[in-house]
Amino acid sequence: MSAMILSGKEMEKELLASQIERCGQLNARGIHPLLAVVMVGDDPASEIYVRNKSRMCDAVGILQQTIRMPADVSQESVEREIDRLNNDPAVTGILVQLPLPGQLDENQLLARILPQKDVDGFHALNAGKMLRGEACALACTPRGIIYMLKKAGVPMEGAHAVVIGRSNIVGKPVAMLLLQENCTVTICHSKTQNLAEITRQGDILIAAVGKAHFVTADMVKPGAAVIDVGVNRVDGKVTGDVDFENVKEVAGYISPVPGGVGRMTVSMLMENTLEAACRE
Ligand code: NAP
Repeated sequence: MSAMILSGKEMEKELLASQIERCGQLNARGIHPLLAVVMVGDDPASEIYVRNKSRMCDAVGILQQTIRMPADVSQESVEREIDRLNNDPAVTGILVQLPLPGQLDENQLLARILPQKDVDGFHALNAGKMLRGEACALACTPRGIIYMLKKAGVPMEGAHAVVIGRSNIVGKPVAMLLLQENCTVTICHSKTQNLAEITRQGDILIAAVGKAHFVTADMVKPGAAVIDVGVNRVDGKVTGDVDFENVKEVAGYISPVPGGVGRMTVSMLMENTLEAACRE
């Protein structure tokens, strides 16, 4: 039997109704969430992400500002802009669109954002709080993955979750959140040996590699929940890290690309932005 499709599109639609309502309630209290996006250069993929975020803000009722800076901008200029946004009481959430050009120190810039306005959850303070299980802004993609698994009713307590990828924005944080859900977690990376042997043990398998069709059907435990985080462009088409057509015949649940985790990431950004405005 073919796997149950975890549709980010459908889950986004459901969440949107509640987000519109919550934004309206904030507005009625005189609170107007405003998301400022700092965009450096004109990376085509980033342009698409920023446009998607902007479209969702419009749908929810969140105000927005996109600050565009040239690709050769100096560290000081971006820091000054972040300081200005930090000090502007009308701005309730700030995100710096990644990746940044090489001359900029990403960690320093992310650390410059006030933690209470950090809607991406990338500030070291928020990442540390997440590690400790304290309330904080959670990174959007990992938060979206957990949301998807819960929404679909995938059992997590005691399940073996295998994460392929150990980046600071996906692999590591999602592994920590799965641990908080009482999964037994294994993190794999490019130096992992006998990868397929490990992935075949996963009741939950998260693919955050960045390589098209990396996860093949023989790497998946029958009935597993497979979450595809990858965004790869092959012949101009967006495709995930999972060989969807074949893996869906083995897995119990599978998220598609497009229309899966990407949608949840933007939805969770809206959640974080509403929550940050509430805190302000
Ligand atoms: P990343 O920083 O490049 O990390 C990729 C990870 O994959 C690394 O930890 C790397 O291991 C591991 N890896 C590479 N080759 C491997 C192999 N042969 N076997 C096992 N592990 C291997 O990427 P990322 O930022 O986490 O993103 C991953 C993918 O998700 C990308 O396609 C990205 O575009 C996508 N993404 C999607 C969303 C969304 O909203 N849908 C959000 C964020 C990212 P090492 O650490 O050893 O190098």
